[in-house]
Amino acid sequence: MSKKKFSIAVHGGAGTILKKLMNAEKERIYKKALSVSLEVGYDILEEGGSAVDAVEAAVYELENFPLFNAGKGAVFTHDGKHEMDASIMDGKTLKAGAVTCVQRVRNPVVLAREVMEFSEHVLLSGKGAEQFAKVRKIKLENDNYFFTDERFKQLQEVINEEGAHLDHNINVKDKKFGTVGAVALDKNGNLAAATSTGGMTNKRFGRIGDSPIIGSGTYANNKTCAVSCTGHGEFFIRAVVAYDISCLMEYKNMTLKQACKEVVNKKLVKLGGEGGLIAVDKNGNIELAFNSEGMYRGYKTSSGKELIGIYK
Ligand code: ASP
Repeated sequence: MSKKKFSIAVHGGAGTILKKLMNAEKERIYKKALSVSLEVGYDILEEGGSAVDAVEAAVYELENFPLFNAGKGAVFTHDGKHEMDASIMDGKTLKAGAVTCVQRVRNPVVLAREVMEFSEHVLLSGKGAEQFAKVRKIKLENDNYFFTDERFKQLQEVINEEGAHLDHNINVKDKKFGTVGAVALDKNGNLAAATSTGGMTNKRFGRIGDSPIIGSGTYANNKTCAVSCTGHGEFFIRAVVAYDISCLMEYKNMTLKQACKEVVNKKLVKLGGEGGLIAVDKNGNIELAFNSEGMYRGYKTSSGKELIGIYK
């Protein structure tokens, strides 16, 4: 019997990430976090686990890592709170779950999975999503848990400005979108994708980005591919990025590589949308595409290929 292929990719956000502005220790910590997340997901796939389990577990690890803008490291809103978004999609059943503007949920990706599995809905928001979290006995935290000095400093720098800022865009020297995500193909040929974010620093008025929007920030379909995006959410919503990649493959017979190039390097660039995505197709091919200076990213496949990268 031939060995069944599987693969996984993760990201920790895209943006202006320049080597000259990074120090060796910080780089080591980022790479370590990406590699821990990849290994956790890879082990699940190797043991015959599902793609959905693998992407949830990989994103869970990244949410617990304070340097990424998700879970523990989520950025501050204008009101000094954290409003987190997450989503997950199963390419086999086309079932999906998502949460938006949730405040006290330790791991929003876990709640998104619960929405997919145990509710009749796809997207739950704010207080209602938190009530659902309580019903499902999902772990909640006090605001203190999400407090990090670095994020608080970022908010203070821009709190008197009108607009919201994408993660480290505040400090243009290290402009990046620190959202996290994972995509996977399991041994049974099933695809899945998950994404989680704190959104934008200083955001107001209940702003929601692409990450919890199925079809924009996250999409998975066994017929084509699984996609998780990171970048300037407004543009990713308008370009319906994740679903567009799948459509180009399904209706135009493009390869994953061609579809990613078309959307990330042509359509989004034309719109002015900075960012990137990770994607895997039904044959286990992986694409890590971005039109920004860098993207925290990594992948590992059953055929022995692996990579962890930050810069272009
Ligand atoms: N796409 C996310 C948003 O707009 C931000 C990010 O990727 O970091 O909320």
